[in-house]
Amino acid sequence: MSSSIMVECLDCGHRTLYNASSASCPKCGGEWRETVYDLQSLKNTFPSLIQNRPFGLWRYKELLPVRNNPADLSLGEGGTPLIRAANLGMMLGIPNIFIKDERQGPTTSFKDRQAAVTIAALKEAGITEAVIASTGNVAISYSAYAARAGIKLWAFITSLVPPVKMRETALYGTQVVKVTGNYDQAKKVAARFAQQRALYVDKGVRSITTVDAMKTISFELAEQLTSALGPPGQSNHPTAKWRAPDWYIQSVSGGMGPVGVLKGYQELLDMGLVDKIPQFANIQAAGCAPMVHAWIAGKAVADPVLTPRTHIATLATGDPGRTYTLLRERMLQANGGMFESVTDEEAFKAMHILAKMEGISVEPATGVAFAGLIKMVRNGQITPSDVVVINCTGHTIPVEQEVIGDNWAKDVSFPTEGIEATAPVEDGLLAALNRVTVDRYPRVAIVDDHPHVRLLIRRILQAQGDYDLFEAEDGKSALTLIQSQQPDLIILDLMMPEMDGFSVLDALRRDPDTASIPVIVVTAQELTSEEKSRLEGQIQALMQKGDFMSDELLEEVRSLIK
Ligand SMILES: *Cc1c(COP(=O)(O)O)cnc(C)c1O
Ligand SMILES: [Zn+2]
Repeated sequence: MSSSIMVECLDCGHRTLYNASSASCPKCGGEWRETVYDLQSLKNTFPSLIQNRPFGLWRYKELLPVRNNPADLSLGEGGTPLIRAANLGMMLGIPNIFIKDERQGPTTSFKDRQAAVTIAALKEAGITEAVIASTGNVAISYSAYAARAGIKLWAFITSLVPPVKMRETALYGTQVVKVTGNYDQAKKVAARFAQQRALYVDKGVRSITTVDAMKTISFELAEQLTSALGPPGQSNHPTAKWRAPDWYIQSVSGGMGPVGVLKGYQELLDMGLVDKIPQFANIQAAGCAPMVHAWIAGKAVADPVLTPRTHIATLATGDPGRTYTLLRERMLQANGGMFESVTDEEAFKAMHILAKMEGISVEPATGVAFAGLIKMVRNGQITPSDVVVINCTGHTIPVEQEVIGDNWAKDVSFPTEGIEATAPVEDGLLAALNRVTVDRYPRVAIVDDHPHVRLLIRRILQAQGDYDLFEAEDGKSALTLIQSQQPDLIILDLMMPEMDGFSVLDALRRDPDTASIPVIVVTAQELTSEEKSRLEGQIQALMQKGDFMSDELLEEVRSLIK
């Protein structure tokens, strides 16, 4: 993958090397930045470079902001099928309707692309804890990938999100914080919480990785549509070997999808690989359609919808902020398109039609896109010769209440009715957030020379409790760490090069400061009776690697920390 990824500030044009930990432009402080790739040197090689790779998101790694192959994180993201909707096409009189079936991503929504790339970048940057706000699917997706990466995740979810989605999020070990308030408020609470604890917070379109991740939809579509319909006909782009549709349709909340897909098509066009950028049709729920209102009024800035009135929580971004402005500007520079809204009832009806006509069951948010398609055909905006791709963004798989039990969420109330960030609101917010966390978490030192074992233990503890974790990879540094941090508990490996676990124990027990810290030994091999007697009275628990369940370790940890 490209070794130096450049990021450009959308405000001042300043370019820097991409760094996942830096959230703003070093020159002007602007938070709106995006990657720039050397497309001119890639244009001749790109199609042959990718040719023999598996069909999936990482096929296009040269155009993604991740340097090392995150194979150990992969859940098979991207590479979703493009399905011809023959029955729906017949019904609507549009023969070329194609469904990009993003339900077939690892957690059944197109957020998997975003999560796969972002979590890979965070892991690469050594980030171990992160905060997100979500209308549901981002939380589920990020949680799955964070689990694999050993990243502790805090998900701020509005109380409007269906409980099944919250439970699914909690099942992955993410700490769910239920925010009584709308999505824009949940975002504020999350940002404030992250700032308070100096944690990485995902900023939607402003998070470099998310936009680039969504580009892979256009890359895949270019290849898939060409297989389905053949290369573009005679056009003014003689090098274009891949076909672009006339329309790309998506249901839209914050607008991340279309911004990313449009950037993807722009890069393909800049490389001369497609003949055009499709028109974009962004469909919103009528009860929360700030972009549609602004588009119809010809405004470049959208007025926020303060009280979203839709049952479709996934699409309840009331304040799209600059994302709308950016999307509109870029659509107008490219091939145009439109913003349209449909009612919840139209969306539910479209869900039925899609399931019955095409065998595809989607969540209501996706129903919105299909209702939009139907409306646009009825209005004559889409005509029979058009090639249409519709992003089938998500499917819901409910988690049973019994599987997850109670007490998996913390509650926070947004302090007032309004969303104005006045001082008293901020004060109330801080007080509310302080109740989410406590001042001092139990401190646990993990000592093991194998990084994957440390990651596993970190994951077990993070996923179901709040701990401050420290890691050491050998006996000597473990002693230094334990003496300086005075943890409440030590999880210790026995077989380590140079200073082994037995010697660490001896040293700990000789020092009055550390003599009484409880120790759980986690060991890989069967101990001899001599070794066992050496541990006698020195440790509180012994666990065999490869032969304990996460809840057993957690139970020991809980019983030893008071
Ligand atoms: C996030 C999401 C959307 C909206 O996507 P944006 O591009 O962020 O506006 C639509 N449908 C589903 C299922 C989603 O998860
Ligand atoms: Zn700048």
